[in-house]
Amino acid sequence: MGKGILVKYGEIAIKGNNRVLFENALIKNIKHALRDLGKLWIEKEQGRLFIPVPQEAENEPLWMQRALEGLQRIFGIIGVCPVDVLEVETSLTFDTIAEAVLAYVNREYTGALSFKVDCKRANKKFPMNSMEIASELGARILEARPELTVDVHDPQVRIMVELRNQVYIYGKTLPGLGGMPVGTAGRAALLLSGGIDSPVAGWMMAKRGLTLCAVYFHAHPYTTDRAKEKVLELARRVSVYAGKIRVYVVPFTEIQLDIYEKCPHEQLTIIMRRIMMQIAERIAEKEEAQALVTGESLGQVASQTLASLYCTNAVCHMPVFRPVIGFDKQEIIEIAKRIDTFETSILPYEDCCTIFVAKHPATRPKLNDIQKSEEALTSLPEQIDRAVENSEIITVGV
Ligand code: ATP
Ligand code: MG
Repeated sequence: MGKGILVKYGEIAIKGNNRVLFENALIKNIKHALRDLGKLWIEKEQGRLFIPVPQEAENEPLWMQRALEGLQRIFGIIGVCPVDVLEVETSLTFDTIAEAVLAYVNREYTGALSFKVDCKRANKKFPMNSMEIASELGARILEARPELTVDVHDPQVRIMVELRNQVYIYGKTLPGLGGMPVGTAGRAALLLSGGIDSPVAGWMMAKRGLTLCAVYFHAHPYTTDRAKEKVLELARRVSVYAGKIRVYVVPFTEIQLDIYEKCPHEQLTIIMRRIMMQIAERIAEKEEAQALVTGESLGQVASQTLASLYCTNAVCHMPVFRPVIGFDKQEIIEIAKRIDTFETSILPYEDCCTIFVAKHPATRPKLNDIQKSEEALTSLPEQIDRAVENSEIITVGV
């Protein structure tokens, strides 16, 4: 009998050819994420992947724990189960399976628990059907462990026996993150500030399978190197889930000073946001990305009222994904804590928006007025070119 991990992924959305792409992307992401745990052999099973514990790790108790933790951070997985496995050979009999199930139960559970055996029989070579197997296994367990009781509705322990290319025996499923494997949905550029919202937004879109690059607008010396380091650290934390991220640090001081000097102050933020979007699109094009991602949330601040978002969005040609648009701050904070970006986000380094912010920003800007004000920015096209060209590119994650 061997040991391993059964990886479950959601099957519904991925029929036909897409399934192979999905599975292959998931396998690649798993191998990459668990690369420190030795060379992995990953087998495909219908709707599942199986990862045997490598021989050299059999006596290494930490291996399983680290592998499970790693898998629980990979998008596309809905559950992971440490399993005992039996090879399916012609000599495999019901008795052999029953013995293995009993050994599993005896090892994993002590005390007077209620249980139920569930059987899935994808491999139809077995003569007994799944109901028969489950009830017969239940009977054998009761015989050997009279202190246990059967509860088919709400058991404390659900023993799963899956007959596939191999036989898998397990009693617990740890939850996965769900979503789609990173790399299966195209590329997007995340506008990443040092705040709480944008790392969460990036994480949420990576969860749908997008590969990310990130764009950070840096107004040196008004924003310090520590603010930049903070953003890079956030990118690193997102990359734990999203894979390697190229971060573009865009020199933004010249543009920001120009806006400050030439445009009405209550419009500063909107005009700045519109220029950020244009620069981010240019970088997205270079990266062959087809969407932008922001951490905007409706009504959170003056620049995120509908009228403001309307003005910001009017310069964009690409789809702009705003996955936290309908979330309350508290909901965003909860995700930030869960994905481990919160502590970094609340470090007190200023960002460029807080320095160049107006006392009374417009909450109902009119697109016409904004466009008129922008006419004062006569060097804007060249400034945008320069900002894109002079961006510093830093890759985070491995
Ligand atoms: P966050 O918590 O992500 O900073 P916020 O609530 O502070 O968001 P704003 O400062 O209005 O909101 O920014 C809204 C969105 O614009 C951010 O979520 C981010 O996507 C983008 N953004 C703002 N400032 C920057 C910046 N300096 N560099 C890159 N993107 C930025
Ligand atoms: Mg911010």
